Amino acid sequence: MTTKRVLLKGAKVFDGTGTPPYPSDLVVENSKIVQVGTSLDADDAVDMSGKTILPGLFDCHVHIMSSGIDLMKHIQTPFSYQFYQAELNLRATLDCGITTVRDASGADLGVQKAVDDGIVAGPRIQISITALSQTGGHGDGWMPSGCQIPHFLSHPGRPAGIVDGPQEARKKVRELARSGANVIKVFTSGGVLSPRDNPRHAHFRDDELEAIVTEATALGMFVMAHAQATDGIKSAIRSGIRSIEHGIFLDDEAIEMMLAKGTWLVPTLVAPRAVIDAAESGLSVPESSVQKAKEVMAIHQESFAKAVSAGVKIAMGTDSGVGTHGTNLDELYLMEQGGMHINEVLRATTSSAAELLGVQHSLGTIEPGKQADFVVVEGTIGPTLKDLKHRIHKVYKDGVCMRG
Ligand SMILES: [Zn+2]
Repeated sequence: MTTKRVLLKGAKVFDGTGTPPYPSDLVVENSKIVQVGTSLDADDAVDMSGKTILPGLFDCHVHIMSSGIDLMKHIQTPFSYQFYQAELNLRATLDCGITTVRDASGADLGVQKAVDDGIVAGPRIQISITALSQTGGHGDGWMPSGCQIPHFLSHPGRPAGIVDGPQEARKKVRELARSGANVIKVFTSGGVLSPRDNPRHAHFRDDELEAIVTEATALGMFVMAHAQATDGIKSAIRSGIRSIEHGIFLDDEAIEMMLAKGTWLVPTLVAPRAVIDAAESGLSVPESSVQKAKEVMAIHQESFAKAVSAGVKIAMGTDSGVGTHGTNLDELYLMEQGGMHINEVLRATTSSAAELLGVQHSLGTIEPGKQADFVVVEGTIGPTLKDLKHRIHKVYKDGVCMRG
């Protein structure tokens, strides 16, 4: 933690609001940004000429405990190995400039606490622990052979997530709150990686989703929905779920509903590509999953472009864990290709993401009073974000340089 006042001078600042970068200095003291502007002084000064400073980046959809989707490797990996591997995943995420993540299932309270206590280096984590799935849903590990291969085996910190009916759903939300969840994740449609469900089918009925949202709200948590099917997206929006994750089969009505309700979209455009890349590199991925990924990829980009032009609120997420941790910034270029201006992409990765996660009071922008989470990038931003990942110079969390 910084006890002195440190001046970072000579850089341009992208403050997170979407305003293009402008020349500004900032002063950091005791883990916070205390001043932003010109003609500032401090105990120490660091020359940042030729650099651009951005707020610490967010990824609103990662699986820190997942290290790829090779099924054979997955079932042969010793149980506790995931915790050691998570340390590398956290480090890789932090190194690409991401200082806050929302874990979309897998990470439990111990992982969050290990980061908070400084035992391992990593971004701040909001945890959902386990995603709620109906029987036969995206979170059901039943394989056609009759074996059970849950992607995340349950353990004392991570209860199993299969629920059917409002009562079971309500009880599971309470159990997850007890386990330390910050957010509730639910599968309101099938998905790509699970062999026996269909991403075009809606999962859970309205009474079940209402029970989940009511209970989560009462316990001070937002709900995020893996929602790929059009009907699963609409039922999630109707029930008041805060964010649609993936949102592959968005139609005009779904977009209208999102605008009316203020529902967020976390697109994870890199995820289907990661499934195809994994299979093409020879990993053991079920053929049904590869087929599904191929079917959804173009539709996904199209849906996203429609949502962008309609003005749906967007926050950046990648589904890293399906793809490789540390390649998170590849998503930014896909968002740009979907029609977002680079300043809007960066806003979706900073202040908008902070708003989605409910932490905008302390994170997401460069302004006095905020935590000193920021990224120093070589050169200026743009005209494209394609090469941003190669220009990350330093990463600060709480005023401490974590990379560089
Ligand atoms: Zn996911």
